[in-house]
Amino acid sequence: MARYVQLSTKAKMPILGLGTWQAPPGKVAEVVKFAIDVGYRHFDCAYLYANESEIGVAIQQKIKEGAVKREDLFIVSKLWCTFHERSRVKEACQASIAALKSGYLDLYLTHFPMGFKPGEEVYPLDDNGMVIPSDTDILDTWEAMEELVEAGLVKAIGISNFNHKQIERLLSKPGLKYKPVNNQIECHPYLTQEKLINYCQSKGIAVTAYCPLGSPDRPWTSPEDPTLLEDANIKEIATKHNKTPAQVLVRFHIQRNVAVIPKSDKPYHIEENFKVFDFELTNQEMETILSFNRNWRVVEILMAVNHKDYPFKEDY
Ligand code: NDP
Repeated sequence: MARYVQLSTKAKMPILGLGTWQAPPGKVAEVVKFAIDVGYRHFDCAYLYANESEIGVAIQQKIKEGAVKREDLFIVSKLWCTFHERSRVKEACQASIAALKSGYLDLYLTHFPMGFKPGEEVYPLDDNGMVIPSDTDILDTWEAMEELVEAGLVKAIGISNFNHKQIERLLSKPGLKYKPVNNQIECHPYLTQEKLINYCQSKGIAVTAYCPLGSPDRPWTSPEDPTLLEDANIKEIATKHNKTPAQVLVRFHIQRNVAVIPKSDKPYHIEENFKVFDFELTNQEMETILSFNRNWRVVEILMAVNHKDYPFKEDY
């Protein structure tokens, strides 16, 4: 089983990466160093996660130690929604590169297809608690993303949380110079995304699955929500393979040629989540897991539901 997803640029994105949302700044450097020792080479970062500079310190240390070379790492960051103005895209990207001390990014994604009012607040809200949009158009933002490739700041550009209509609009943009190479989307057995994954893969856009474990530590959890890691059916499949539910949840994506970025700040989980290349789910098990779909989303970003570019109202 390939350990890479090949991008349309021919670059190889390690199929398994480490998620870093909610990895606490005081802890994340140790976590990243440990993950490099375990074998992780793909790190999923973002301005929004407010921990890029600590991740950068860890990466630098590992490179200095000779444990890893920069070119062996695949570092991803994301353009936050308050930076969609053409004039702000480059400064946002440069800030992430400076924080990560990585020289360049292997992949830079537009975090959401929505622009928010620029300023200090990452979620600028009106009196009703709803996001204040910017008047930017994603096609203009994309031109500024393309300039990052030309300036040598990033090897490739992609998108995140785009629905198929938004992708179609981007792909048919007159004068498009660089197609998105990747769409990073929420995906797990309760949100299997078959249509969107088929659509992206048919267009040469690799897919990355976020919240693969159902994001149990999300800040807005509620007791009625389903719990993937506790799902009896997943547990049964895991037991058959002498694996843990988390390992089955990670492996599920790998067998769809979808990259996967489980987050953990616990060494034993980081190791566990990496031990997924020594077993194979049967076709029947893959079908069974796909049948658990219930279109349940962790990331709904409901305060942006009135935004003109809110992505999650479409079927896919
Ligand atoms: P995940 O589905 O990766 O779940 C992370 C949670 O699972 C943590 O609480 C972690 O706890 C726990 N966990 C990890 N491994 C195990 C294990 N083996 N057994 C039991 N529990 C485990 O959620 P995330 O929301 O973090 O998603 C993954 C990554 O995707 C993010 O970190 C981020 O990089 C990216 N992302 C991107 C988004 C986007 O809009 N593009 C949106 C959301 C996420 P512990 O740390 O204690 O191990």
